[in-house]
Amino acid sequence: MRRFLSAILLVSLTMAALAKPPARKTLEIYYVDVEGGAATLIVTPAGESILVDTGWPGFESRDAKRIQAAMQQAGITEIDHLIITHYHVDHFGGVPELAKLVTIKNHYNHGELPNPPENSSQTRQYANYLAAANNKTTTIKPGDTIKLRSLKGTPPVTLRFLAARGETLPGKTREANPVCADAKQMPEDKSDNARSIVFKLSYGAFDFFDAGDLTWNIESKLVCPSNVIGKVDLYQVTHHGMDISNNPVLLKSVSPTVAIMNNGPKKGGSANTVKWLRELPSLQALYQVHRNVAISNEQNTAPEYIANIDEQGSEMIWVSVDAAKKTFTVTNGRTKASKTFASK
Ligand SMILES: [Zn+2]
Repeated sequence: MRRFLSAILLVSLTMAALAKPPARKTLEIYYVDVEGGAATLIVTPAGESILVDTGWPGFESRDAKRIQAAMQQAGITEIDHLIITHYHVDHFGGVPELAKLVTIKNHYNHGELPNPPENSSQTRQYANYLAAANNKTTTIKPGDTIKLRSLKGTPPVTLRFLAARGETLPGKTREANPVCADAKQMPEDKSDNARSIVFKLSYGAFDFFDAGDLTWNIESKLVCPSNVIGKVDLYQVTHHGMDISNNPVLLKSVSPTVAIMNNGPKKGGSANTVKWLRELPSLQALYQVHRNVAISNEQNTAPEYIANIDEQGSEMIWVSVDAAKKTFTVTNGRTKASKTFASK
């Protein structure tokens, strides 16, 4: 009988251990390949998850399944916080299919779909998104934060929003940014790209910047006349690497150590953006989820930093941040090769 009871005890202890997320001391960031959309999965040391954008709908739920596979690799089963940067189909189109596969607890966006919508499919996609969120979403304003749990013995993880719906955090009282002398304007972007949610996530000495598909003039507003972002370690290359985004004034102001671009084989990955990033004295590595097949190999980053050389690939790039060592490590899912960088 005693042996029987201890066997039961052992089984229940094992089950309890399995039910808990794995113990980790690192913060993880996964770049899911959604073929020219965006889906960035962040998992904190406490096991809390933030997903930024969900890729496309359709293709037999391709992107939702890829996000679920990334969640499995990260050892999580639910999304605690889903941030939709803006209402374009390659960012929010995948929400209904993902919501069928996994539980999504909290939804964040920049507010109601602007009127008039860009086209009729956007209206339909927005209705599907709201239905998948049970009409319960939180509207983000610059300066808002998401409160995240911290793990004992590790620094807090903070997520702060810097822009939403074209509004940016005011920076008047800060020092003037000398880079702004070179700032040039483009014609006003009236699309929802310009309303993208922008945030900075910090863990110890590490800072990560994600601006969705934000475009040129609002990028400039974030750093001119004063830089409200600061310098960052990891820069998510904005708008899949298109050159109507990634304003060099912003790039020089945030001076990242590593940049990761979520582009498709035929979307984003502009030669200009690659050139501007390479010119940054701070930059030690530029990663691309795909090789841009429309330009030369020399205009892409080096093959060792590309997760998918062929159009068919679906490999990820992921980042592991160690606050105690003040380092972060980037792994190319295709080669499994890792490189470690010092946090600023
Ligand atoms: Zn996009």
